[in-house]
Amino acid sequence: MQYVSTRAVTTGAQPFSDILLGGLAPDGGLYLPISYPQVSGAELSAWRDLSYADLAFEILKKFATDIAHADLKALTQKTYTSAVYRNAREGEKASDITPLRVLDKGAAGTLILQALSNGPSLAFKDMAMQLLGNLFEYTLAKRNAELNIFGATSGDTGSAAEYAMRGKEGIRVFMLSPHKKMSAFQSAQMFSLQDPNIFNIAVEGVFDDCQDLVKAVSNDLPFKAAQKIGTVNSINWARVVAQVVYYFRGYLRATSDNAQMVSFTVPSGNFGNICAGHIARMMGLPIDKLVAATNENDVLDEFFRTGVYRVRKAGETYHTSSPSMDISKASNFERFVYDLVGRDAVRVRALFQKVESGGGFDLSGKPGSDGDEFKLVARYGFKSGKSTHQDRLNTIRDVADDFGIVIDTHTADGIKVARENMTPGVPMIVLETALAAKFNETILDALGVDAVRPAGFENIEDLPQKFVVMAPDVAQMKAYIAANTGL
Ligand SMILES: *Cc1c(COP(=O)(O)O)cnc(C)c1O
Repeated sequence: MQYVSTRAVTTGAQPFSDILLGGLAPDGGLYLPISYPQVSGAELSAWRDLSYADLAFEILKKFATDIAHADLKALTQKTYTSAVYRNAREGEKASDITPLRVLDKGAAGTLILQALSNGPSLAFKDMAMQLLGNLFEYTLAKRNAELNIFGATSGDTGSAAEYAMRGKEGIRVFMLSPHKKMSAFQSAQMFSLQDPNIFNIAVEGVFDDCQDLVKAVSNDLPFKAAQKIGTVNSINWARVVAQVVYYFRGYLRATSDNAQMVSFTVPSGNFGNICAGHIARMMGLPIDKLVAATNENDVLDEFFRTGVYRVRKAGETYHTSSPSMDISKASNFERFVYDLVGRDAVRVRALFQKVESGGGFDLSGKPGSDGDEFKLVARYGFKSGKSTHQDRLNTIRDVADDFGIVIDTHTADGIKVARENMTPGVPMIVLETALAAKFNETILDALGVDAVRPAGFENIEDLPQKFVVMAPDVAQMKAYIAANTGL
C-alpha cells in the first residue's frame, strides 16, 4: 500500500513507514492511501469474534503493508490490552477496549454509546496515540533513529501524547501549554509525569502563543532537522488509520448480520475522528449515516448544511464547555474534500489555497461558487448538527436521569445531535470521546455533584509536578530544546 498527498501534483507515492514519522506532505497536503482497501462480507463475518487487538491487526495490515505481520501483531497486542484501557465504568468490560452500552431502545431507534475513553488520559485520543507510541518506538529502533516530538496543547492532545510516549526508547516529548490556563485536572495529568523523556513547558501566554512558538521553531528547517523534531498532531495518518478500527468494532458489536446498517455520531473538531469513519465506510463497512456534531464552533456543521467551508478567524473562535472541539479550521477536512472532488489533487490544491488566502470555499453550486460537489455529500452519508452550552447541560442531566450514567460535555454534544438524526431500524452509535471527570466544572453545573473519577485519579492534583515556565520567546525555546536533546 502506497500513500499520496491530497495535493500530489509533484510528490510521488510512499510506503506507510515513511509517512509515519512525518506530518504534512512537503507540498502542504495530507497523506491518503492510493486506494482504500476493501473488506469482503466473508472477512467481516470472520472478524465478529476477534479480540479488539486481533481486529486492529487485521485492519492495520491492509494499510501498513511494509511492517512484518508478526511485528504488527505484537504491536497491536501490546497496545490494545485491558491493562492500558482500564478505566471502564461499572457494567463495562475493560477487555472489550471500546465497550458498547445500549442507552435507549425507543420508537425513534436504538441509541448506543461506544466508550472510547477508557485509556490512560481518559479521552479517545489514547485509542490512536497509544498505537502511535509503539509504532514510533518500533520504527525508530529499526532505523537506529531518534525523534523529538514538539507540540502545543490546550488539554487532551498533550496528555494523550505524553502517556503514549512516556518511557519510550528514542523519543522525547516537548509539550507547550498555556501557563495556568488548563484545568487543574488537565495540568496535573501532564505535569505529574516524572519520566525523564517528558518535558512540560508552561508558556506565559495563551494557547495561540504556544502554537505560534511551535510554528516559529518548525519553520527553522535547519534547526528542525538538527534536533530531529517531529509532531503527533491530528493530521498524522497513523492516528487516523488507528481510529478506523473502532468503527469496525462498533459495527460488529451492534449487529449480528452483515445486512444490517448502523450510523455513527461523532463529536467533532479537527475532523480526525469522523474522517476515520469515512474511511471505514469507503472500505465497505455498512454505515448509513456519519453525523458530525459540533459545538458553537460550527465550521463543519455549516459546510454539511450549506456546502460553504468558511474557517473562522482567531477572534471568532468561542471558548466553550466542550473545549476540545473549539476549532476554527478542521485540519483533516482536506482528506474528505479530496474524495468529494473525485481525488483531483489540482482541484484540492486550488480550494485550500483559497482557504489560506480568502478564508474558505463554496461548493454549493450557486452562481459564483467554486464548484457544485455539495450535491454529492449525501452519497458519503454525512449529516451534521450543532449543540450549545445549554444543550450540553440539558443533555448531561437527561442522560443521568434516564440512563443513570454521567457523560462528558463533548459526548453530550454528540447525543444531542444524534437524537436529531435517528432512523428506526438503524442503531445510532455515539462515540464517547472523554470521561466526565476531565470536565468536572460543567458536570457540577449540570448535576450539582462531582463526576466520579476512575481509580488512581482521586488525588491527582496533589502529586508532585514537573514543568518549567517560559516566556513566549523563540530563542529561549530553541536553547531549551537543544540543551535537553544534547544534539
Ligand atoms: C480531540 C477531541 C474531539 C475532536 O476530535 P477531532 O478528531 O478533532 O474531530 C472531541 N472530543 C474530545 C474529548 C477530544 O479530545
